[in-house]
Amino acid sequence: MIRRIISKVFGRKSRASGAQILPQPRHGIRREQIDDCALKTCETLAQAGFKGYLVGGAVRDLLLGKTPKDFDVATDATPEEVRRLFRRSRIIGRRFQIVHVMCGRVTIEVTTFRANGQKEAEEEDERPTDEHGRLLSDNVFGNMADDAARRDFTINALYYDPAREEVHDYFGGVADCKKHVLRMIGDPETRFREDPVRMLRAARFAAKLDFHIDEATRRPVATLAPLLANIPRARIFDEALKLLMSGHALRGVHQLRAEGLHHGMLPLLDTILDDPTGERFITAALKTTDARIAQDKPASPAFLFGTLLWPQVLQRWRALEAAGEKPQPALFLAMDEVLDAQRGQLAIPRRYDGMMKEVWALQPRFEQRGGQRPYRLLEHPRFRAAYDFLLLRAESGEVAAELGEWWTRFQEAGEDERAAMLLADSSPKPRRRRKRRKPGESGAETQSA
Ligand code: ATP
Ligand code: MG
Repeated sequence: MIRRIISKVFGRKSRASGAQILPQPRHGIRREQIDDCALKTCETLAQAGFKGYLVGGAVRDLLLGKTPKDFDVATDATPEEVRRLFRRSRIIGRRFQIVHVMCGRVTIEVTTFRANGQKEAEEEDERPTDEHGRLLSDNVFGNMADDAARRDFTINALYYDPAREEVHDYFGGVADCKKHVLRMIGDPETRFREDPVRMLRAARFAAKLDFHIDEATRRPVATLAPLLANIPRARIFDEALKLLMSGHALRGVHQLRAEGLHHGMLPLLDTILDDPTGERFITAALKTTDARIAQDKPASPAFLFGTLLWPQVLQRWRALEAAGEKPQPALFLAMDEVLDAQRGQLAIPRRYDGMMKEVWALQPRFEQRGGQRPYRLLEHPRFRAAYDFLLLRAESGEVAAELGEWWTRFQEAGEDERAAMLLADSSPKPRRRRKRRKPGESGAETQSA
């Protein structure tokens, strides 16, 4: 009886799995905070005699008092068993299958417990790895303890049982959440070698959650960062996108640079950030993106990558002009050169090319403020994005602040005022005034998707 009361208040240790099991008062997560579809999924699994736990980012975010952006469920049912339980569900993936369970517009990702963690790492010889220790197959079902051990950070290996309102904590993730520490499960070097992308994930989580990377976790990164070169470029791109769209892109990019990880992801970053105008431009762009995401506004990845590449485009553009090329052809040449050069590095999908090029190509047209031209530019379908881009250029001092202000006024003005605003000289040379705007005065609200 007393034992029961104690375990209800303080939690208990599972003898079978070794996990610490925390009751509601110890973790503070309330069922109302959880998406109905996720609860229903766990419930259906339980009714069929399977385990069903909320896992990963959602549990971590709930513990931290943040609203999770999606909910993942872990279960001991096989993908085929899960699919049969839910009418609206489908199996995704070939190498490692997961099941998408849909209710309304919500999709819950259901994953069968996997066994590829620390335990197996001790018998490393038997697992297929490449010559740097990278895991080549990740495809064995296991129990919940195995599943916890194959996850990356302690704060990502927490399982929430909605029926009992308990959190199963295998590696002290709840304590690390409270201390704001990001700690790798198992031996950090081995785990980074198994999957070098975990280094990028470390930088992303540290930035997103404002956590401190535990010293032992951080130490091997400086040496292992070059292993990112062996990762498929598409996966690096996905990770870059997650970092940039995390709502903490500015901190994330600085975190990457501090850990020396940007060479593998944004190789241009050094050159950009070493140039004051480039630095101001990128900072303004990332801040704008972060602000939009904080306000739940759509942020366009193509726009964002367009800003990341712009300092390079600009540099090439100026160089070609200086070599005697006319402005417009010089810009188009520079755009193509930069896009070609980055393909081997970051693999920005070609589907973004169209928007990036349009936004770049419209920039010189903002200089033309006479006759019918400003009216025609206003009508352009990409005007909004291009104007937002112009504001970032103005903010960084690349073009005069006055140019951005002129276009802001021109959009708001009535017929007569517009006519009076038109300049006689339709294509003045860009002035390079280094006037900086105050933060918050930028185009934070105007970047169109
Ligand atoms: P986010 O809120 O950014 O989605 P998340 O923790 O849910 O964060 P996901 O990338 O969605 O991150 O992955 C879900 C879970 O899967 C993680 O919490 C982690 O436990 C596990 N995981 C994902 N990628 C890896 C990896 N490369 N190595 C080990 N575990 C991983
Ligand atoms: Mg997630």
